[in-house]
Amino acid sequence: MIGIDVKDLMRKELNKLKPYIPGKPIDEVKKEFGLDKIVKLASNENPLRVSEQVKKAVAAEMEVVNRYPDGACRTLKGLLADKLSIDEEMILFGNGSDGLLKVIAEAFLTAEDEVIISHPTFVEYVFVSHLMGSQLVRICMDDYRQNLRAIAEAVTAKTKMIFLTNPHNPAGTIFSQSELDNLLETLPEGTIVVMDEAYYEYVQDENYPDGIEYIQKGYPIIVLRTFSKAYGLAGLRLGYAVASKGVIEILRKARDPFNVNRIVQAAARAALKDTAFLEKSLQINEKGKEYLYQELNKRGIEYVPTEANFMLINLKMDSMGVFQRLLEMGLIIRPGKPLGYPEHIRLSIGLPEENKYFINCIDILRS
Ligand SMILES: *Cc1c(COP(=O)(O)O)cnc(C)c1O
Repeated sequence: MIGIDVKDLMRKELNKLKPYIPGKPIDEVKKEFGLDKIVKLASNENPLRVSEQVKKAVAAEMEVVNRYPDGACRTLKGLLADKLSIDEEMILFGNGSDGLLKVIAEAFLTAEDEVIISHPTFVEYVFVSHLMGSQLVRICMDDYRQNLRAIAEAVTAKTKMIFLTNPHNPAGTIFSQSELDNLLETLPEGTIVVMDEAYYEYVQDENYPDGIEYIQKGYPIIVLRTFSKAYGLAGLRLGYAVASKGVIEILRKARDPFNVNRIVQAAARAALKDTAFLEKSLQINEKGKEYLYQELNKRGIEYVPTEANFMLINLKMDSMGVFQRLLEMGLIIRPGKPLGYPEHIRLSIGLPEENKYFINCIDILRS
């Protein structure tokens, strides 16, 4: 027993997995560079602090954390079902959309299945597919857009799942209703489409397809949304899946019984009622986007027009070098290299003064 090599015991599927690399934490950068002010525009978080209503709800809930949470999130589910005008049985909450991606994979994917993703794409789809030992089929992006026609052509009898991201992370682009219609038309029975709509609330484009409408028409789609972005609760972890009752019933078998804690349930109930916060978040994003477009245009810097709360910017410089130099100035952004765009950076749209600081840093970088 002593000295046994535990690697021999590990499932071989884990060989393909690498631990997720998150955006650099603020405190770590402060320490490393001896800075006292940091601007973090790296993880597409809401730049607004939580509202008073949510704070109050969280404080009140603290009084009863000795008790297990409601595993079914009944009250929260009722509020959300009303807001979305759907049946409660079409909703499942999870520990972030990330947690739900794992539940979905564990419920449906096996080593015999093929999974289609775009390349590049959000790394969690790669992680959960590898975890289950499924075969990944990667379809290259077409000029920063997901190529739904090529995805349709890649579908085989083995294709169990297709991961679509709308808007796409890191490109910020969307696919349209007609592109989705064309894909769905050709899908064989036996293929489930996961539509990750983490940035749903921010989208302005009228051609954006609302995944939930497609579920109600009967298409085999699972929509994922989150409280991490427009609702500003990334640190508390809450996402939800919407799908047919049959699909939700299956997902419920695979999830942990208490995967959504009391605090986040209380926070989300308050956040759903706090429409002013949501509106303000969207306004700040629109204003920030306009400002950044304008300043980047003036400087002739290329970027991808975005439907989300972040932008992919083509600096035509090694993104790891840019990342390092910006860190030294107290600005955290996401280098494009690990995301599949070596000369781009991904920038979250922040508060006006944060966006301005970014532009100042870019001027220094380019001078
Ligand atoms: C931010 C993001 C999510 C949200 O994840 P949570 O686990 O809910 O915080 C999901 N998908 C994509 C593509 C994202 O960018």
